[in-house]
Amino acid sequence: MAHSPVVDATKCNGCEKCVDVCSVEIFEMNEDKAEVVNPEECIGCKSCIEICKKHAISIRDKTVVPANLGTSTFVVDILH
Ligand code: SF4
Ligand code: SF4
Repeated sequence: MAHSPVVDATKCNGCEKCVDVCSVEIFEMNEDKAEVVNPEECIGCKSCIEICKKHAISIRDKTVVPANLGTSTFVVDILH
């Protein structure tokens, strides 16, 4: 399953806690807002969600689910 962290810049207060807590350096600060710079490295630990007091971070899990028809697949997004 691939994890894709997203920052809502309208909620972010620039506290940098997500930058500090993420062990795989997903976040960088950009003009006082956290920015996701390499989402493919996210391990889905959710530490950033727990530490963000502004509820600005969500993790999108992309799960590929086999479709009933033929060999096609589709992607389900689960927002936490
Ligand atoms: S922890 Fe939340 S409020 Fe603080 S910089 Fe990160 S996204 Fe912004
Ligand atoms: S879920 Fe974990 S690995 Fe992913 S961005 Fe948040 S702190 Fe980093």
